[in-house]
Amino acid sequence: PFDTLVIGSGPAGCAAAIYTARKGVRTGLLAERFGGQVNDTSGIENFISIPETDGPTLARNLEQHVRSYDVRIIAGQLAAKLIPAEKEGGLHEVVLASGAHLKARTIIVATGARWRQLGVPGEEEYRSRGVAYCPHCDGPFFKGRPVAVAGGGNSGVEAAIDLAGVVSHVTVLQYDPQLTADEVLQEKLHSLPNVDVVLNARTTEIQGDGKKMTGLSWQGVKDGENHELKVDGIFVQIGLLPNTDWLKGTVETSRIGEVVIDERCRSTVPGIFGAGDATTVPYKQIVIAEGEGAKAALSAFDYLIRNSVA
Ligand code: FAD
Repeated sequence: PFDTLVIGSGPAGCAAAIYTARKGVRTGLLAERFGGQVNDTSGIENFISIPETDGPTLARNLEQHVRSYDVRIIAGQLAAKLIPAEKEGGLHEVVLASGAHLKARTIIVATGARWRQLGVPGEEEYRSRGVAYCPHCDGPFFKGRPVAVAGGGNSGVEAAIDLAGVVSHVTVLQYDPQLTADEVLQEKLHSLPNVDVVLNARTTEIQGDGKKMTGLSWQGVKDGENHELKVDGIFVQIGLLPNTDWLKGTVETSRIGEVVIDERCRSTVPGIFGAGDATTVPYKQIVIAEGEGAKAALSAFDYLIRNSVA
């Protein structure tokens, strides 16, 4: 069995595996896809101390860094089920999609999340070429240009407020007949001169010139009328889906499925830790995921020395 088994090889999982390996802990890493979501982005300009990089380069560097340590890498496998230890200090079991079983005294869940997509024509084609999911990441790429935000909940309205300070104009397209964000956010949004809100609007298509996005179509939910909007980008803010289905019935999760963790990355089950986008930690970012991975690893190490078996 492993002392620590890290599930997921995005920034959080890679940081966790490196940290436990550096403590001399027998570490396994379930690496379905090195780099995780980082692979899906082109320009990265907020990975502090590296002014500019891109997704594939950062993903490669993560893999190389992990491979320079004594980490047993289980590649191309997905976790399908977690069976927690019967008593504290015991062995947890992870069942893989392939049917194999792995045992470990501590588990670090770092399976990340994915952004819910609109599911409309053009969305895939213009992903990272206009279609964006993260205002903290991609907002500055649209400086001085018009953009849309799909979604009028807290994330959509926060994104619109954030973007309004950077881009020339923001159009918020909300499917529902009203915004569902907190009142204080709505007030802030309405006070901004360069933001329009369109209610009852279903985004139906992303258009582009083959290289980049040039606009979108939306349809009135009530009257069925079609409209065009010339924008250089759209930020899709219609929900985050943590990859935590495989944990059902074990650790506590939030309403949307994030693993609930405390300030030491401990889940509600002793010996099971969480790090990065799969957890309740606010703000889903690479530097944050790496910091959380390091923290979860140190916390797992602390657990191991307190629950050591002779
Ligand atoms: P992830 O990166 O999601 O990695 C989780 C890993 O676990 C994946 O490899 C996944 O395949 C694997 N996994 C999932 N389920 C299982 C399972 N059951 N068993 C085993 N493995 C599993 N952040 C920034 O800081 N700057 C940016 O510029 C930036 N740009 C972005 C652009 C896009 C298009 C997207 C989508 C995100 C961007 N982000 C950016 C956010 C950043 O990528 C994430 O916050 C970060 O990758 C989270 O790291 P993580 O390790 O928690 O999860």
